[in-house]
This record gives sequence, structure tokens and C-alpha cells, in this order.
Amino acid sequence: MIPVRGLKGARVAVLGLGRSGLAAARALAAGGAEPVCWDDNPEARDTAAAEGFACTDLKVQGAFDGIARLIVSPGIPHLYPAPNPVVAAALAAGVPVDNDIGLFFQSLGDADWARYDTPPRVITVTGSNGKSTTCALIHHIMECAGRDSQLAGNIGRGVLDIDPPGDGGIVVLELSSYQTDLARSLTPDVAVFTNLTPDHLDRHAGMGGYFAAKRRLFAEGGPDRAVIGVDEAEGLFLAGQLAEAPGDDRVIRVSAAGKLTGPGWSVFARKGFLAEHRKGRQVASIDLRAVPGLPGAHNHQNACAAYAAARAVGVAPRVIEDAFATFAGLPHRSQRIAEAAGVIYVNDSKATNVDSAAKALAAFKNIRWICGGLQKEGGLDALNAAAGAVKKAYVIGREAAQFAMQLEVDTQVCGTMDAAVAAAMADAEPGDVILLAPAAASFDQYDSFEMRGADFTAAVTARL
Ligand code: ADP
Repeated sequence: MIPVRGLKGARVAVLGLGRSGLAAARALAAGGAEPVCWDDNPEARDTAAAEGFACTDLKVQGAFDGIARLIVSPGIPHLYPAPNPVVAAALAAGVPVDNDIGLFFQSLGDADWARYDTPPRVITVTGSNGKSTTCALIHHIMECAGRDSQLAGNIGRGVLDIDPPGDGGIVVLELSSYQTDLARSLTPDVAVFTNLTPDHLDRHAGMGGYFAAKRRLFAEGGPDRAVIGVDEAEGLFLAGQLAEAPGDDRVIRVSAAGKLTGPGWSVFARKGFLAEHRKGRQVASIDLRAVPGLPGAHNHQNACAAYAAARAVGVAPRVIEDAFATFAGLPHRSQRIAEAAGVIYVNDSKATNVDSAAKALAAFKNIRWICGGLQKEGGLDALNAAAGAVKKAYVIGREAAQFAMQLEVDTQVCGTMDAAVAAAMADAEPGDVILLAPAAASFDQYDSFEMRGADFTAAVTARL
């Protein structure tokens, strides 16, 4: 655990008592602060009370008297689409609002660091898609390089639950826009921005707010190195804003769309090859085409970002290349779950938005595509543009018929996963890929994308 520093003796309100809220309460208490907890859900309050934390309704008049700070869980919309009443009350009382990530950065580092040859370093990853994959890949590279690495944030352990990093230790942190929006301290050593496409727009009041939330990771203190995906206008803008001059190698530009030229530091993937350029010369090159854990151009983008982050903390290209070869990939992200009678089965249940599904569709050929679910705003046009390799779509979800109507490929309305898998398998020929890439949230039929992916896997294995 990382005990919270700088709030000894202070009363700190904690709103939301899920995994991160409880971890924050524990870390606050360990640092000598007094957590004052609240969650609208009585069961969550019971769990906190069972651990000995005092619960007080933060909505009552005067609740913020004598409170030094409010810590908000990422699941709670603080400002949009409507201000949260507890957050609004804290702000009205002049109480600073923060989250577990802010507490982490404020608290990292202790007296032991004076004895370390290499101070621990924090690598953060944000962006619309590819965060988890990129984080897992960086962590894997670090382990292969013999570095002491911990994975935390949205993936791995809660950020305040990690062990205090030792000499040369690495912490790889996945951060969502919800987290970067609120954290009062954001001081990573290396910060990665993978890409930006519309998502969570209601929580950020549109694309500008969404980009602004992610950008805070590069602006509040500023990392020593920024690894920026420049395939969208926002990334290009951010890279330009952070660099003093074209050759400023505090910024490492990353692209999966083509060659990057210029005197600076860049990593790009072209025709399946990763290349690192620095000061106008090629430093290294890696063939990504046969790397089984990283299929498709989207994963080549993740590979470039992870490569750049690893280079920023001094890992050699050959070590990274070997680590790529042994990366197993993450469950529910372009995950090959079976191969039988010449048909490959791929679970990409994490493709919860149109962009990530379009990337999955671009990564394979002869696709029998299982899609549908709770549709997000923005329409399905981008999917139709990416569906050139789709032989037929098998549509699931409560609104399957309506979803199917918007697709321009041959469709069959199946409703359930079981029916979709059965239909796709009945149609499949050798060389086909049966791909679950829903392009929609799962909540109309499942509690989570993980459960949806598990249901797909179960339906497939039951029939093989
Ligand atoms: P995140 O943590 O940002 O949600 P994941 O690594 O979990 O990212 O991947 C989420 C989804 O996006 C998966 O469907 C995956 O196949 C797809 N994806 C992964 N990397 C990228 C990328 N660089 N660009 C677009 N889509 C991606």
C-alpha cells in the first residue's frame, strides 16, 4: 500500500466505496488522515463500516465543515451530464476535489528513495482505445527486461494498493479520462497518449471536454517524456504543443498510419514493420507481422506506443523484440480462443465502441461477424466503411433488428449469443474467422463485456 502523505490529522471525505474508494480510505488512514466515507448504496456503506470506517451522509447541510478534501470514485460523474450534488456541495464549501490518482502522485516517494541508484519511474497510459493492451505490453516488456514492474490503475491493482516501488522499480498505470479529469497531482515520468476517438461524450460534455480531460496528464507538471499517437488531429496538436522545436526529443511521436519524418524521435509501423527514428536516422526495426499476440494495425499502434515507452526508460530494441514474441495478449481483445476445421474464433468483446470494432474488422479476413448490443451515440457509418472483409453479420442484443438495419452487409438477426454462434458456425467455411466485435456496450444482456466474451467462448467450446 502507498500511505497518503500530506494529510496527516486531516478529515478527508471519500465519495463512492467501491474498489478504489475503499483503497483510498485505507491509504488515507494509513497516512494518519481521518476518512469520512459515503456511498448511496447501503451495502457499500456496510462493507466500509465493517472495516471500521465512519460513514456520514455528505449530502446533508454542513457536511463539508472541517473537511480538507473530497476524494471521488471514477464511476461517479462529477460535472456532466449534471453536477453530482456531493461534489457541488464540496465545491460550494471551497473544498478541493481530488481522486485516488491524485493522492497516489502526491504520496509516491519516501525516505528510502535517497538510497536508490535509480529512482522508481511511473509510466502512465491514456487514450480512447488500446490503453489496457499497451499497459499490459509495457509491463510484459519490463518483466522480460528484468525490471521490477507493477501494473495498476484500471488494469491490475488499485493504484494505492501497489507495493512501494524499490530501486529502479517501474509502475505502469492505465488512466481513463474520468481519472485524469479530477486528479490534482499528475506527475508521471513517461506519459503515453494512444489515440482519440469519440467515447464517453456525455461525461465530458463533448469531444473538446474529453480531449481536455486526457490532456491534463501532459500539462499538470508534465512528464519527462511524452509518447503521443499522432494519427488524429488531437494527438498531432498535443505533440506540437509539448515540443519546443521539431527536434525536441522529450516528445516521441507514434504512428500506425505511415512513415514519420523529421528530426525528432519517432516510432511508427508501416507495412507490418515497426521502425524507430531518432535525429534523422533509423535506430531499429522490428517485423510485427508474425507476432501472434498483436494482430492488426491497431495492435501495431499499441506495439509502437509500448516500444516508445520502454525505450524512454532505457530498454534495448532487441529485448523489446523478444518480449513482443512472447506477449500473450489480453482476454477479450482480439483474443484467439479456438481454431477448428480451418475456422478461427476470435473474442474481441472489449470492442464496445464503433472505432475499436472497426479496428478488429480491419485485422482479419473472411469474417463472420457477431455484433450488436447497447448502441452508443454517433451511428454506425464508420463500421460500414470498415466492413469490407465481412461475409455476414450475426446481430445480437435487445435491439438487434434495429442495429442490423443500419448495417450495409448481409445480416441475420439472432438476438442471443447462442443463436449467433450457432448460425455463424453453420455457415462457416475453412479460412473463415468468426469474430465477436460488438461495437456496442453489453449492458442490455450482460453485466460486463467480460461476461459477454465468456458467453461467446462457452457457446463456441460447447459446439466444437
Ligand atoms: P482500452 O483499455 O483503452 O479500452 P483495450 O486494450 O482494452 O483498450 O482495447 C479495447 C478495444 O479496442 C478492443 O476491442 C481492442 O481490440 C481495440 N483496440 C486495441 N488497441 C486499439 C487501438 N490502438 N486502436 C483502436 N482500437 C484498439
